[in-house]
Amino acid sequence: LVIPDFSTFKKTVTDIYEELKDFKSGNPADYIPQLARADPNLWAVSVCTVDGQRFDIGDIDQTYSIQSTSKPFNYAMALDLYGNEYVNQYVSAEPSGHGFNEIVLDVRNKPHNPMINAGAIMVSSLVEAEMNTADRFEYMQGIFRRLAGDLHVGFNNSIYLSERSVADRNFALGHYMHEHDCFPQGTNLEKVLEFYFQLCSIEAKCDSHCVMAATLANGGICPITGDKVYEPRSVQQTLSLMLSCGMYDYSGQWAFQVGLPAKSGVSGSIIVVVPNVMAMCLYSPPLDKLGNSAKGIEFMNRLLERFNFHHFDSL
Ligand code: GLU
Repeated sequence: LVIPDFSTFKKTVTDIYEELKDFKSGNPADYIPQLARADPNLWAVSVCTVDGQRFDIGDIDQTYSIQSTSKPFNYAMALDLYGNEYVNQYVSAEPSGHGFNEIVLDVRNKPHNPMINAGAIMVSSLVEAEMNTADRFEYMQGIFRRLAGDLHVGFNNSIYLSERSVADRNFALGHYMHEHDCFPQGTNLEKVLEFYFQLCSIEAKCDSHCVMAATLANGGICPITGDKVYEPRSVQQTLSLMLSCGMYDYSGQWAFQVGLPAKSGVSGSIIVVVPNVMAMCLYSPPLDKLGNSAKGIEFMNRLLERFNFHHFDSL
């Protein structure tokens, strides 16, 4: 067992969960109308170890759209299918130092990294580009289902429609990259953007979302089914960028303080990976000023006071 005393660990998770129940800070994202309606009191935490021990607490029956936390999974898929040499021609691996949807490219005139919108839109243009739109979505949703070991993975059409209707910025990013000839030849920009919005609108629950992340912790093999979804190399490259770029403009401080690969999304979820040990998923819609779930960040800070999960804690 990777966590031999799982009951003590569960107790600590429960204690911190309870401590934070009345913690109030931040507001749900409001730039996508459907997200603004989220109940700010929703609060759930899930744990899944690489040997399949699981623990969930709180509103785990609540479904939500995975938003930006889809980005690392899409990127890992692109790496798996085409390799880093090809993918890196289109998207760099450098923290941007800018907001997640800022209209800015790097010195090569490429999106900085696949964890922010420009880079993720680029990745959406790469994965199985020759398929028609229906097959493409079905293919990627199938990957998410395998990542989640067949726990709940759905699609939230209202979020998708809501997001698409207020997508000026993402369209602007797309056109800006198109102007700079960033996309592979023959890319249909509108279809790529729609695919990107659909991937953000994939729906999970805290437990299924956690198992997806645990598949990354386990080097690409789903810990509850044994299904090999990604090659370890693709996972390693993806985790590297989650560590340096996964938490918006808080990524540097997160790497310093928590020291674990993670990704957050505007719906209020954060997935955290402890490689070879476990993954956690935290869900609470109110976001802090940098766009991360305020309660989720506070939870991790408190957990790290009690456990040595930081990747340099072994020194
Ligand atoms: N769908 C959101 C957008 O493109 C994702 C943003 C996020 O979760 O960071 O604006």
